[in-house]
Amino acid sequence: MTAGAGQRAEPNRTFVGIDIGGTKLHGLLVDSSGSVLRRVTVPTLAAEGSDAVAARIYALVECLLPEGGVAAIGLGAPGPLDSKTGTIIRTENLPFKDFPLAGLVERRFKVPTLLENDGSAAAFGEYAFGPARGSDPLLYLTASTGIGAGLVIGGTLYRGKSGNALEAGHISLMAGEGPACACGGRGCAEALASGSAIAARAREAAEAARTGKGKATRLAAFSDPGSKEAFALAAEGDAVAEDIVARALHYLGCCAATLVTLFDPEVLVIGGGLVKAGDRVRAAVEAAIAASPAASAGSCGIIAPGLGEDSGALGAAALAAKSFFGLDFARRS
Ligand SMILES: [Zn+2]
Repeated sequence: MTAGAGQRAEPNRTFVGIDIGGTKLHGLLVDSSGSVLRRVTVPTLAAEGSDAVAARIYALVECLLPEGGVAAIGLGAPGPLDSKTGTIIRTENLPFKDFPLAGLVERRFKVPTLLENDGSAAAFGEYAFGPARGSDPLLYLTASTGIGAGLVIGGTLYRGKSGNALEAGHISLMAGEGPACACGGRGCAEALASGSAIAARAREAAEAARTGKGKATRLAAFSDPGSKEAFALAAEGDAVAEDIVARALHYLGCCAATLVTLFDPEVLVIGGGLVKAGDRVRAAVEAAIAASPAASAGSCGIIAPGLGEDSGALGAAALAAKSFFGLDFARRS
């Protein structure tokens, strides 16, 4: 965080972007047009603790660095975090607690380093380089293990006062009732509609079926059923799996419709591992928006991310380029 905004990067400058996830660390070396020059993914191995994961992040940066170095490094990580000081406050799927990751990376590599919420980074990646490039506003919603979101307005990421805006996974959809969420709240979108919520319901249903306390379901054949098994069995007509998936998608649709009502986006990009489960996720979101007159009034486009698993790392790199060198992306005049 040493270079001032407004400094100009040379046109051939390169940047490193890393998407720090609970299961993998996905890193890219990119140029200022968003072309990926190098791509490396390594497992996070979060159970080994914060120092081990930080060491793996340093090794990943080293692997990506070209001979002449890079202009800046962007890191995307789940929140809550303090993007001003580059500190991860705490995360559910990573071992970091009050961990000043950006400063440590910056001191080690002597390169200005930015830390951004992963949902926000992915939103900016899609805004800068994806098929919805330049959409204004662009709203990004991701549903996988957790639920996250990001919003780009007029080419600028909307961060809020503390940098933790758009924590869509923790909108309470049941007015403080319902299943407990890892954040300490109840009835959050993440506790109702994420991949881990679906997995939790699938495990409960399997256990109930095995002990004769619940309806029969083929989920009981799995020792540890997850969202993948729930979606697959729902598609095959298993009534219990269908009920679990339909409920989760109902709440995901509520979450999406709420965000669309609030922000009236030009485009809503729906990403994350759950979307890979099939068109059903997108269809549920479309149906929820169509059912809400306020949400559907703006007729926003609903699309899948165009950058696949690169969107978070690309966005982190682009945000670092923008923040430290004033590079602008995709702005319509
Ligand atoms: Zn929550």
